[in-house]
Amino acid sequence: MAQTNSRDRDLRERAARVIPGGMYGHQSVGLLPDDYPQFFERGDGAHIWDVDGRRYLDFMCAYGPNLFGYGQPEIDAAYVRQLGLGDTMTGPTALMVELAEALTGMVTHADWAIFCKNGTDATTMALTTARAHTRRKTVVRAKGAYHGAAPWCVPRPSGTIDSDRAHQILCDYNDVASLEAAVAQAGDDLAAIFAAPFKHDAFIDQADPDPAYARRARELCDRTGALLVVDDVRAGFRLVRDCSWSRLGVQPDLSTWGKCLANGHPLSVMLGSDVARKAAASIYVTGSFWYQAATMAAALETLRLIRETDYLERITALGERLRAGLDERSKAAGFGFRQTGPGVMPLFLFDDDPDLRKGFCFSSEMLSRGVYVHPWHNMFLCAAMTEADIDGALDAAEGAFGVLKRQVRDLAPVEKLAFLSAGAR
Ligand SMILES: *Cc1c(COP(=O)(O)O)cnc(C)c1O
Repeated sequence: MAQTNSRDRDLRERAARVIPGGMYGHQSVGLLPDDYPQFFERGDGAHIWDVDGRRYLDFMCAYGPNLFGYGQPEIDAAYVRQLGLGDTMTGPTALMVELAEALTGMVTHADWAIFCKNGTDATTMALTTARAHTRRKTVVRAKGAYHGAAPWCVPRPSGTIDSDRAHQILCDYNDVASLEAAVAQAGDDLAAIFAAPFKHDAFIDQADPDPAYARRARELCDRTGALLVVDDVRAGFRLVRDCSWSRLGVQPDLSTWGKCLANGHPLSVMLGSDVARKAAASIYVTGSFWYQAATMAAALETLRLIRETDYLERITALGERLRAGLDERSKAAGFGFRQTGPGVMPLFLFDDDPDLRKGFCFSSEMLSRGVYVHPWHNMFLCAAMTEADIDGALDAAEGAFGVLKRQVRDLAPVEKLAFLSAGAR
């Protein structure tokens, strides 16, 4: 239950006066159980502390940016060192070239890089690049896939106009026939096929990419001259030390990255192959902070850790441990509890839970036991987590399933979410 005399409550009341809706974006008021804190004080490794001093093992990892742990010493030392030398300046430092060299050395399809700040910058730039390259307009992308918060792709239409979303055809992810139909409908106007590396939509089960779907997307782009774009903003470097679709043997023309690229420091990038180099050089893209050097220093250090440590093998093993342990405990408690997507980016949903009341109750019970999970969005593991952390989370889950079992018949519906989840389900 939400505490009445807490700093969080106080900040929420003040925020309600000076921030529209009390909060915007993915932590908007009402999207999470009421007892979830809205404000945090600090983060360290795999943990976050809310403004009332409670500590949580954080399975959201800042919605993706935290890969090596909050405040990872080597990454932050590189950041601070560069901050002392210069950060936002009239032009970039040598780090920009080094970073482009590092990324093109790691990502198979990439021959060049353009750096920006948010994932949305990168995905929007990919759209523009594809249109510049093909001199065509239409983009095919999957229904429900998130590509950012610009008018062309934002999930909530308020304030957007029809023309913002013109020249887009939606298909069903992993459905080859639907993809082919969308491409046929685009006719001779296809500029790009956008693809998530796997289906990681909110509110519904995640799904691995069907290799046949990925290969078909590549073939259709080859046949039409359109560009294939993989939006790796969320999953990049969490599944493989390369573009995520390289695991399927499919190389895109463009890929977009963000979130964990500088382990929490603001940086995103569009990577491309030589085929799109001329078009990428022709578009006008910039931002006041896009040359910032300190974030690039942090990114270089993050990439070094990606190359030189076993972080990927460790988070993969931790993800498997979590999945197996939760599977066992949910079954013992008699719940149909679905864990979908890769173990390092899990999403939890209960069977027979259309308005998420079970999910909300379970999540609240986890929170009260010091584990921050999400009731309808995919989560993330980070390399600062240990086996002991996972085992602690499993103990918490055993308690949470037990409470849920006792209370399940009396749970109130979660009405606030209906408008958001209706489209997805
Ligand atoms: C988060 C995300 C974006 C947008 O990134 P921002 O940094 O929030 O602008 C784009 N695509 C995917 C797949 C994402 O997860």
